[in-house]
Amino acid sequence: MVRYHASWVLPIVEPPIRDGWIVTDRGRIVAYGAYGAVTRRAAAHAESAEVDLGNVAVLPGLVNAHTHLELSYLRDEVPPASEFVAWIRNVMAARRQQPHAAAPVILEAMDRAIAESVEFGTAVVGDISNTLVPFQSLLRSPLAAVMFFEMLGFNIADAPAFVAHACRELEALGGTDRVRTSLAAHAPYSVAPLVFRAIRHAIDRDPFVPCSVHLSESAEEVEFILNGGGPWRQLLEEIGVWNDAWRPPGVSPVQFLEESGFLNPRVLAVHGVQMTPEDLAKLAASGATLVTCPRSNGHTGAGAPPIEDFYASGVRVAIGTDSLASAPDLSVFAELATLRALAPTVPAAKLLASATIEGARGLGFDADYGTIEPGKSARVLAVTLPAESGDVEEYLVSGVQRDQIRWVEHRNAD
Ligand SMILES: [Zn+2]
Repeated sequence: MVRYHASWVLPIVEPPIRDGWIVTDRGRIVAYGAYGAVTRRAAAHAESAEVDLGNVAVLPGLVNAHTHLELSYLRDEVPPASEFVAWIRNVMAARRQQPHAAAPVILEAMDRAIAESVEFGTAVVGDISNTLVPFQSLLRSPLAAVMFFEMLGFNIADAPAFVAHACRELEALGGTDRVRTSLAAHAPYSVAPLVFRAIRHAIDRDPFVPCSVHLSESAEEVEFILNGGGPWRQLLEEIGVWNDAWRPPGVSPVQFLEESGFLNPRVLAVHGVQMTPEDLAKLAASGATLVTCPRSNGHTGAGAPPIEDFYASGVRVAIGTDSLASAPDLSVFAELATLRALAPTVPAAKLLASATIEGARGLGFDADYGTIEPGKSARVLAVTLPAESGDVEEYLVSGVQRDQIRWVEHRNAD
């Protein structure tokens, strides 16, 4: 057992504790608390080693609830756009020159991105993949993860067979308690209604796995789902996947998926830039988690997400970086600083909950991650604080840098 002392401990389940401690044993948190009236000397336990971490804030390892590790090789390769569909065209052009999915350039970029994520204080990721290649890299890493096999198909002849085939590929891959697999739907404009239904059907067979979908990311998506027109229609026709039998739902993307029976508490709805307060109320009522990726939204031309509306609606909000094709790095701390800039009135405690427990819960990892509580993983961070840091929660959402972050323990739980 080891007892760690810190200027601050942030359990997330309760307000920050000044002059706090945590005790860990074999990769698990055993207890935490404040010294209060008890002096450090009196609290010292015969069986436990004592480590003073100094002027740091101890908090749970962060959760990056949405990224695409396999796109890491596109870092700095896709220029920013002022319109989302123009950005998608840039990505498609970049991916057309893609080497084989398991080419060394892709694997090396992915391993670097994973190593960086760990240095940025991330303990858990929700990773979206079209190739399943990240699975082995994640297994080798210290990250806990859900790797989502993303279904993409607007014009699919046999949706149940299409999804069943994907399920067989996931089964062949296996999965461990730490690196899990599931399915994702790409987005309402790129996935046929029957594919959504088949994914929902497949997911429902396992009551514990989450599912993910990009939702209400761009104005072009809203237009397309409402009336079937605009730049998306044009792009689908151009790439030869338009389906004449498809009818525009005539509602918002959120209402479309709600009426399709797709939304439920195990869905991670990613982006939400174009969601109205009515959409957000629907999403909140469904129990789904909204994953916001504000830096990516700025890069892709999707726009600035209405962060204040997200929190006002009562929907669960988690945080993702999206991929290195649209974000400069995979730092959740940098994402927090962007959230703070976009939403000055949301309490820092809520933003920190989004970066920890909300993401962990959305991904189904809340039994092990997301808070400092007895029994949970000891993958906790120590963030170096300046001598005068003021409000510690506010400080932690102000843009913590990589060299301030270290892991209190390196080992995973036994
Ligand atoms: Zn994404």
